[in-house]
Amino acid sequence: MGKPTGFLELDRTDRTYKPVEERLKNYNEFVVPLADGDVQKQASRCMDCGIPYCHNGCPVNNQIPDWNDLVYHGDWKDAADNLHSTNNFPEVTGRICPAPCEAACTLNIDDKPVTIKTIEYTVAERAFAEGWVLPQPPEKKTGKKVAIIGSGPAGLAAAQQLARAGHDVHVYEKNQRPGGLLVYGIPDFKLEKTVIGRRVKQMEAEGVTFHCGIHVGQDLSAKYLESKHDAVLLAIGSEQPFDFFATAPGRDLDGLHYAMDFLPQQNKRVAGEPQKPKTHELSAAGKHVIVIGGGDTGSDCIGTSFRQGAKSVTQLEIMPQPPVKENKALSWPHWPMKLRISSSQAEGATTEYSISTTGFTGEGGKVKKLHYTRVNSNMQPIKGTEGTLDAELVLFAMGFSGPIESDVVKEFGLPVVARGRFKGLDATDKDYKLAATPKLFCAGDIRRGQSLVVWAIREGRQAAHAIDKFLMGTTTLPR
Ligand SMILES: Cc1cc2nc3c(=O)[nH]c(=O)nc-3n(C[C@H](O)[C@H](O)[C@H](O)COP(=O)(O)OP(=O)(O)OC[C@H]3O[C@@H](n4cnc5c(N)ncnc54)[C@H](O)[C@@H]3O)c2cc1C
Ligand code: SF4
Repeated sequence: MGKPTGFLELDRTDRTYKPVEERLKNYNEFVVPLADGDVQKQASRCMDCGIPYCHNGCPVNNQIPDWNDLVYHGDWKDAADNLHSTNNFPEVTGRICPAPCEAACTLNIDDKPVTIKTIEYTVAERAFAEGWVLPQPPEKKTGKKVAIIGSGPAGLAAAQQLARAGHDVHVYEKNQRPGGLLVYGIPDFKLEKTVIGRRVKQMEAEGVTFHCGIHVGQDLSAKYLESKHDAVLLAIGSEQPFDFFATAPGRDLDGLHYAMDFLPQQNKRVAGEPQKPKTHELSAAGKHVIVIGGGDTGSDCIGTSFRQGAKSVTQLEIMPQPPVKENKALSWPHWPMKLRISSSQAEGATTEYSISTTGFTGEGGKVKKLHYTRVNSNMQPIKGTEGTLDAELVLFAMGFSGPIESDVVKEFGLPVVARGRFKGLDATDKDYKLAATPKLFCAGDIRRGQSLVVWAIREGRQAAHAIDKFLMGTTTLPR
C-alpha cells in the first residue's frame, strides 16, 4: 500500500470531457486525460482494504490494488506488465468499460471510489507511448491449428492467448477490418479505431493470421474450417436485434431502422471504408430523431445523431426513471441500479421514462410521428396519456436476442435459445465447449448473451485456456 493516508488527504478527481459544442464538430475522442502526476495521486487513494472487492467487481479480475501501488511509486512498467497479465486490451476497457470495479470499491461506500478506470487507461497508454507493448511470439510452435470465427473482443483475446501458447491461429471475419463491435458498433468518439489497429499489428507479429471479408457459412463452409483445424472457436457475437414493434401500425414506413444499421455506416464513413453495395445510407441531419431503448447502443445512436446534425434527439425508455442515488446498504459492492447520464445523453438529448411506443404514422411513405402511451411501473398503459412525438428517423436500440440463426449456426445445427446461449450451456460452464462436435468451442456474446467488452475479453481468455488444454492435455494459460 503506497500511502496509508492517501484516501483521507486527497479527493477523487477524474478525467473531464471537452465542451459539447467543441466535441460535436467531429468524431474524435473527447475525454481529456489526467496528467500522469495526478493519476499517481489518485492511485495513492487506494487503501488496499484487505478484501479487494474491486477484484470481484472486475470481470477479468484485474489486480487493481497492486497496480495502484506500482503507479503511486512511479513504477509504470511493472504496472503495465501486471495489468496485461489479466487483461489483453486495457487500452479498450480503460476507455469504454462501465467500471463495475469502481462500484465495488470500498471508497464507493462514500461515493468517492478510486478512479480505477482512468488509472487503467493511463497505464495502458503509457505502455504504448514508451514502446513497452511489444509482440510476444511463442518460443516454440505446437504444430496445432486453431480457427476462430469472429474478431470481436472475445475472438481477439482468445487469438492472442492461443498464439502466445504456440498455436497457429487463423481468425475469420466477415467485415473488412478485425474488431467486431469495437470497430463497427462503438463510435469513434468513444473509441478511435487506431486503438484497435495497433493491437492487431502486435497480434499479427505474434503469429495470428486475419482473414477479413470472409463470411463463414457463405464464402467458406464452417465444416471445411472444422476439417482443416484442430479446434474451432465460435465468437460470432449476438447480432440478432430485438424488434418489439414488428406488428405495430406503421412499422413499414421509411425511416425506422435498427441501431446496428445506422452506427456501422458512420464508423465506415469515418474510416473511409466504402459502404456495402446497395446500402441505403442513413443520416440524422436536420431530423427529429427518436431512439427507442437505453444502454450503450442507445447512447451511441444519440451521440452519432448529434454529430450528424440532428434537429432534436429524444430517447424513450419503457422502464421508470431509476433513483438518482442507490441505497448502498442494499447494493454495495454490486452494480447498483441508479440514474446514469451518459456523455451522449448530456449532449442535449431528452430522455422520457415510463413510455411505450404504440405505432408510427407518416406522409409519402416516410415516418413523421411516433405514437406513445405512458405506462405504470408494471409497464401497463395508463389511459388518457396517449400522445405523439415528431419523428423523422427512429432508431431501435432494444438489445439483441442472440446470434443470427443462419450460416455457421445452421451448418453446425446448433440449438439456439433465447438471449444468445446454446442449449446445455450457461455462463457457469467451464470448458467453453459446444456439444455439436468435440473440437468446437464458443466465447463472448454468443455464449453469455449480449454483454460487455470486458466480459468478452474474459470469455476469450477462458476459451483459450480450455482449447489449449484440449489440444495439449495441459495448459499454463491463466483462467
Ligand atoms: C452499439 C454498441 C455499443 C456498445 N458499447 C459498449 C460499451 O461502451 N462498453 C462495453 O463494455 N460494451 C459495449 N457494447 C457491448 C460489447 O460491444 C459486446 O458485448 C462485445 O463486443 C461482444 O464481443 P464478442 O467478441 O462476443 O462479439 P462481437 O463484438 O459482436 O464480434 C463478433 C464478430 O463476429 C463476426 N461474425 C459474425 N458472424 C460471422 C460469420 N459467419 N463469419 C465471419 N465472421 C462473423 C462479426 O462480424 C463480428 O466482428 C456495445 C454493443 C453495441 C452493439
Ligand atoms: S476492466 Fe473494467 S472492471 Fe476491470 S478494472 Fe478496468 S474498468 Fe474496472
